[in-house]
Amino acid sequence: MNSFTYERASNLEAAVREGARAGTYYLGAGTNLLDLMKGGVERPLRLIDVTRLPLAEIEELPDGGLRIGAMVTNADAASHPLVTSRYPLLSQALLSGASGQLRNMATTGGNLLQRTRCSYFYDTAFSACNKRRPGSGCAALEGYNRMHAILGASDKCIAVHPSDMAVALAALDATVRVSGPNGERAIPMRDFHRLPGDTPQQDTTLEHGELITSVDLPPSRFSKAYYLKLRDRASYAFALVSVAAALEMDGERIKAARVALGGVAHKPWRAMRSEEILAGSAIQDDSLRKAAAAAVEGAKGYRDNKFKIELAQRAIVRALRTAGGVA
Ligand code: SF4
Repeated sequence: MNSFTYERASNLEAAVREGARAGTYYLGAGTNLLDLMKGGVERPLRLIDVTRLPLAEIEELPDGGLRIGAMVTNADAASHPLVTSRYPLLSQALLSGASGQLRNMATTGGNLLQRTRCSYFYDTAFSACNKRRPGSGCAALEGYNRMHAILGASDKCIAVHPSDMAVALAALDATVRVSGPNGERAIPMRDFHRLPGDTPQQDTTLEHGELITSVDLPPSRFSKAYYLKLRDRASYAFALVSVAAALEMDGERIKAARVALGGVAHKPWRAMRSEEILAGSAIQDDSLRKAAAAAVEGAKGYRDNKFKIELAQRAIVRALRTAGGVA
């Protein structure tokens, strides 16, 4: 058994001060961390419980955007009137994730920090996992890799990020606000999660001791949006491929588009080239297919997941058509 201490933070300053100590993890709802601890994947020396910090509000920002506190549950965020009316893409993504029970517990900050569901990462009987034990290899490269990445992977790790919420936040140009030993900073969502490279043990660009305090959304500008999640069963399953599609229209033409993919990479994957192709186009199959093909340029499939390259393109076309109201 791995011994650890537990403390409840009384305020943000105390949490950050204590969180900076070596071996310390922040504990929110614990829907992922406690499983990882029980399996021996994570072995913190100290837990700082941040669930009582005043970070559970959703508030409008002066510029018309929205601030979602790090401790707002996924269920509360998904059903909040300002989210459902202005950012339905985010609400749809949240409701597609996990189960009702988990959404009642899981928090905004914790959702971003959940770790990959690669089965080799969770199974400590497999010695080869660079994310769990750096330098040990990657069992998924030659093993079962149906759920794994087709974009941005490395020969050290081909895991994918499991969050649906993060995919919508990437499409919506959200910003993650953090507080840490060196003060506060804001990290654009697209830079928050990392590609694996040679250091797959690092999922994010957070520094040790930094605590997520909120996620900020810019003013809503996309009148049409849709989150499509394709998975092996209808609920309580992680995405094979998901697409967050948002469109700002100018009459019949797309003025601006946002396309982000889940289930395909170590981070939510913004399809920037696709967005460029869509800008100025009508919602027609030829431009949608061209945009979809651009999204998977450079994609690489492995033994069990090559189908994802075609699936991702079909999903992008379908998500854009549905967002645009084209039957
Ligand atoms: Fe570990 Fe990543 Fe390989 Fe999975 S894909 S076994 S998480 S290194």
